[in-house]
Amino acid sequence: MSLHLYDSARREIVEFQSLEPGLVSIYLCGPTVQSAPHLGHMRSRVNFDVLRRWLEFAGHEVRLVVNVTDIDDKILAKAAEAGRPWWAHAYLFEDAFRDAFRSLGVQPPSYEPRATGHIPEMIELIEALIERGHAYPAADESGDVYFDVNSWADYGSLTGQRVADMAPAEDADPRGKRDPRDFALWKGHKPAEPVTASWPSPWGRGRPGWHIECSAMAGKYLGDTFDIHAGGLDLRFPHHENELAQSTAAGRGFARYWMHNAWVTMAGEKMSKSLGNTADVAAAVAKYGGRAVRLWLAGPHYRSAIELSEAALAEAAAQLARIDSFLERAGAVLTDEWVAYAPLTAIGGEFTAAMDDDLATPTALAALFRTVKEGNVALDAGDLESARAARLKAWLMLRVFGLDANAPEWADASASDDLKPVVDGLVGALLEQRAQARARKDWAAADAVRDTLKKLGLKVEDTPSGPRWSLEN
Ligand code: ZN
Repeated sequence: MSLHLYDSARREIVEFQSLEPGLVSIYLCGPTVQSAPHLGHMRSRVNFDVLRRWLEFAGHEVRLVVNVTDIDDKILAKAAEAGRPWWAHAYLFEDAFRDAFRSLGVQPPSYEPRATGHIPEMIELIEALIERGHAYPAADESGDVYFDVNSWADYGSLTGQRVADMAPAEDADPRGKRDPRDFALWKGHKPAEPVTASWPSPWGRGRPGWHIECSAMAGKYLGDTFDIHAGGLDLRFPHHENELAQSTAAGRGFARYWMHNAWVTMAGEKMSKSLGNTADVAAAVAKYGGRAVRLWLAGPHYRSAIELSEAALAEAAAQLARIDSFLERAGAVLTDEWVAYAPLTAIGGEFTAAMDDDLATPTALAALFRTVKEGNVALDAGDLESARAARLKAWLMLRVFGLDANAPEWADASASDDLKPVVDGLVGALLEQRAQARARKDWAAADAVRDTLKKLGLKVEDTPSGPRWSLEN
């Protein structure tokens, strides 16, 4: 394969070569588990799941590490607001994120390390930085330790900035910094914070800064030098710039390529909790199905923004229905056993060239739709050989996109997708009975219907487009 990728550090498309032949190591920044996931959080995992599948399709083994940031200023603040211990708060949302990723067919990574499980590795790294003259404990004895940005000439190289032009680091309550742009590696314990959120260190009890977590975990699992560091565009600065500085200043090679996915936007603005313009993952999956939501996220190029709209999600669902209907139609005619382990070249040069060209998924999808169209034409003409070839090709393409309905990751989803119309019909009939009972003022009968639905664990909401049901959890 000759995969070409846009490397954010070099700011150009370059040929990808893995460090070790046949093995690709990827570190992807995972969520800070402070609150419920929204659709914007899903994009990087879906985009890089497609990259992983494409690399595996080409015969590479992929070692993907995605961290969980389970200690952080925001987690402590949100946990205090919610009246829960911070660790229970973080675990609750770690679980919610895992469910959300699973609902979009994202394969679990090779490993998912938690920040709190790697404090010794972070301390080791900070000690190395102090020893080499690139970090210092705050002079005010607060227990904070900062990275000295002026000591590292390459600081700013990832995003092409000069230190003099940079904004101060956004550390809450900075204490004893030499330069406002120095960022925290270690934060001394504050009396107002729970003692459980602090660990012993050479600088007294405290907790790690955000950036050091990723450097330590990437180094532990992928080695001093690894292939790809990935994440959302918003992480380029300061997070990735700081990760790069810390790791290289400590003498590590760190990432050989940097990849950043663009945002999901709403009315042109980045989707974010703080802007209050978020959309619930479970609601979108319930309405359109996990595969359609995945297609909506994976279809556009990973470096282009995706604007959230009902129309775009509905369009993805319709596209998927066209593909599925061809596969069903072909399945009804082509009753012969078909080879699941087909030659990979059957996927076709056009699709391969698109994916090798910095994951040009829109072009690859166009090839898939053309294949479906050709397959339908072949079925119309009774040309079973061509229909068989088109089915195989479409199936291979779907697998690369992680959209093969028969793959294990969709096993639960497809069962409930199949049942949904049936349940919709039954619930609709019951609601109609309730409406009729109400109309004739037979309150006992209306209540009986409501109680039956409740007993079955179904929650009914009256919406402008009629009643909508969901499972109570
Ligand atoms: Zn990170």
